[in-house]
Amino acid sequence: MCGIFGIYAHPHAAEISHLGLYSLQHRGQESAGIVALDTLTGARASKTMGLVSEGFNAMDVAKLSGDIAIGHTRYSTAGSSTIENAQPVLARVRDGNVALAHNGNLTNATELKRELVDSGAIFTSTMDSEVLVHRIARSPSARPEERLADALLDVEGAYSLVVIIGETLLAARDPRGWRPLVMGMLGESHVFASETCALDIIGATAIREVERGEIIAVDRDGMRSSFPLPPRESRKCVFEYVYFARPDSRVFGGSVDRARRALGRRLAMECPAPGADLVFSVPDSSNSAALGFAEESKLPFELALIRNHYVGRTFIQPTQAGRDAKVKVKYNAVREVLDGRSVVMVDDSIVRGTTTKGLVTMIRGAGAREVHMRVSSPPITGPCYYGIDTPNRDELIAANIAVDEIAGTLGVDSLGYLSLEGMLASVPGGPEGFCHACFSGDYPTPPPTDPQKLRFGCGC
Ligand code: 5GP
Ligand code: SF4
Ligand code: MG
Repeated sequence: MCGIFGIYAHPHAAEISHLGLYSLQHRGQESAGIVALDTLTGARASKTMGLVSEGFNAMDVAKLSGDIAIGHTRYSTAGSSTIENAQPVLARVRDGNVALAHNGNLTNATELKRELVDSGAIFTSTMDSEVLVHRIARSPSARPEERLADALLDVEGAYSLVVIIGETLLAARDPRGWRPLVMGMLGESHVFASETCALDIIGATAIREVERGEIIAVDRDGMRSSFPLPPRESRKCVFEYVYFARPDSRVFGGSVDRARRALGRRLAMECPAPGADLVFSVPDSSNSAALGFAEESKLPFELALIRNHYVGRTFIQPTQAGRDAKVKVKYNAVREVLDGRSVVMVDDSIVRGTTTKGLVTMIRGAGAREVHMRVSSPPITGPCYYGIDTPNRDELIAANIAVDEIAGTLGVDSLGYLSLEGMLASVPGGPEGFCHACFSGDYPTPPPTDPQKLRFGCGC
């Protein structure tokens, strides 16, 4: 998964993008980058491994002159943590520059790349996004939006894009609309971002979603919108509402906070925990859902787990002792809240079950009498091919054992998951139009021919 940002016609385009990326940090912590276009001196890129706050300083960003810029934060994956794979991709083509930042995964990237390599293309990264740059370079069309449309024809899978072609800024979403992308205005400047929280930080006003299948071009002739790709059924990623996006954002036109509260309330209706004393969240991702559960069940919401915000997601330990330590470094339990109590622990999802198991041990160690786990999404039974780096099926706990066995493995007194219907009825704009493949097995496209390579190749 990734976060993307773009701005047109602002004298401090790179600095504004830098700020925007701070608000998109949760969408990717592996690397970050900015490309700015100065119409007099050309395009320049600055990229860094790790966090936006660690990798860039004001000097780096100030060197990126120009009034058009795009930026990217990249999600951490196992196999491709290299600066070559940091985005935006920047290339010189026959009549200018192309720069591109991508959120999503292309499901036919392997086939498209093979075609390009067979005809002589040279790749400098293992990202599927580079395929798009080659395809833009080969388009015979003149107008930037037509070149992007040519490049996207026959491309399958998920993409939200911000692109610079020549001196035009473009934004695009795939026809199924898997990933969010919103347009805003900062004074007279057009801005695009994965989530509205990146517009808030720069003081921009949200105008509307980039529609699925839409290409928007902004340049000195103004703004143009087109829908050049064959239409498809809407497949917005429901996991954006469940886990990924920030609760202060609006994505797909709906509030993430409201979505998570509704998920929590519905969970309390479907899987109540009678006799419990209190509800707590696994911070931060399930805070809003736990509040919804507490409201609906008329139980107090307590802060029973404290999260250390200075631990990166990359704190990886190869040994079991190290993995236990990982949970302890990230979370600690508040004995005063838990001791002697029957508690409801709400989380947004269970993936492998390893974090959850460690947390349950910790909660019991702090004196909890009973631990009732409630999950504000259904069991995850399959991988995602559309931009979220869920592990292979054999690592997904719910793909391998039944729910009552999961309860035993996690060491909880009871376990309740939200139903698929309950989840889809709770999210804004539901129940139709969402992708829920990792929960239901209903994949909107054929699986990629080489899913392993795809996920580790891009992992965006
Ligand atoms: P588990 O018990 O499966 O090891 O971890 C569950 C936790 O992982 C939940 O708190 C959930 O918020 C979080 N989570 C869900 N999806 C993802 C993801 O794609 N990446 C990361 N880093 N965490 C996730
Ligand atoms: Fe989202 Fe799951 Fe669909 Fe992936 S498979 S796009 S995580 S709903
Ligand atoms: Mg979490």
